[in-house]
Amino acid sequence: MERINVIKPWIGAEEAAAASAAIESGWIAQGPKVAEFEFRFAEMVNAQYAVAVSNCTTALHLALIVAGLGPGDDVIVPSFSFIATTNAPVYVGARPVFADVELSHGNLSVATIQAALTPSTRAVILVHQGGQPADVDAIRAFCDPRGIVVIEDAACAAGSRYKDGPVGSASTIAAWSFHPRKLVTTGEGGMITTDNAEWAARAKRLREHGMSVSAADRHKSTLPTAEEYLELGFNYRMTDVQAAIGIVQLRRLPEMLARRREIVAQYQRAFADVAGVRCVADPSFGQSNFQSFWIELDDRFPLDRESLLEHLANHNISARRGIMAAHHQPPYRHNVGQPLPNTDQLTNRSLILPVYHQMTEAEIRHVINAVRAAAGQAAA
Ligand SMILES: *Cc1c(COP(=O)(O)O)cnc(C)c1O
Repeated sequence: MERINVIKPWIGAEEAAAASAAIESGWIAQGPKVAEFEFRFAEMVNAQYAVAVSNCTTALHLALIVAGLGPGDDVIVPSFSFIATTNAPVYVGARPVFADVELSHGNLSVATIQAALTPSTRAVILVHQGGQPADVDAIRAFCDPRGIVVIEDAACAAGSRYKDGPVGSASTIAAWSFHPRKLVTTGEGGMITTDNAEWAARAKRLREHGMSVSAADRHKSTLPTAEEYLELGFNYRMTDVQAAIGIVQLRRLPEMLARRREIVAQYQRAFADVAGVRCVADPSFGQSNFQSFWIELDDRFPLDRESLLEHLANHNISARRGIMAAHHQPPYRHNVGQPLPNTDQLTNRSLILPVYHQMTEAEIRHVINAVRAAAGQAAA
């Protein structure tokens, strides 16, 4: 059996044809395909506006700027997240303040946010970790009246459901990623969604050097335009080649979701009787796209996390350590706030198992039986 990767993007001939058509159109930088991708993405997540950018890190940066965050402001973030979540407030001169997460779903809650509040808290970056939906309504009910902006880091969450709608539909502003480690990919890419017209318009300008007239509008205009550069901007644009790929990927999303959830259901059933293994599962208020499926080990499991990873590697399975914790990384080690016991437990004791669309039944069984064998259990 070939090595089983932790993820493989599901991308192929249709995306290649779409990219090729974009190239042949002669318009390869941000143009009509980006506009179409934005329109379709906004529709999918029930948002009024979508602004495509170069990746989710730049989406978070712009989201913080348009939401008005800057020096002197504290931004509550989960340490239990990819490092970009913590870096983003630093880019605008704000201070990231770490909050703990709930063990059951790995996300912030009202209780963990409350424990991290400071007099300068002006925003929360609410991550939908690994595609697990966070309880946006409860958190906004706490934050909105206090003037604390909830910026959602939905990097992993395209296709996840919150209550009766897609993640994104209950958002003030959300940032998305199209890195190949996520479900929908454009190679690199990101998106901001919001219902706030002013924020969307400003984000569109900021991604394009703060220009008063977009390059696409300038192209359409017959007379030379007199553009101005209204404020300090950036080049955070997506290309039409990427957007053309993204449009095809969005069409694949429902099928991708169904397949991932089916694979995860098999894992959950197969590990239900394995002592010392807890599988991440949907919270009561939504459904994950299972961008990452993790299991958490406790002392009843005969191997520790590192030994289980080694055991899986010896069986040709690439698993991964669980989600990282930013407060253990060099730039943030000095940033000592309150203790984060749940974050430490999850980051130290969990591992991410392979889930990808093309996974065969034999591959799924191989992973299941390798974990069961490590626990001294018969094959499922
Ligand atoms: C992947 C990821 C990011 C960064 O996304 P890029 O598109 O690679 O910049 C940010 N936050 C979370 C939670 C992520 O998983």
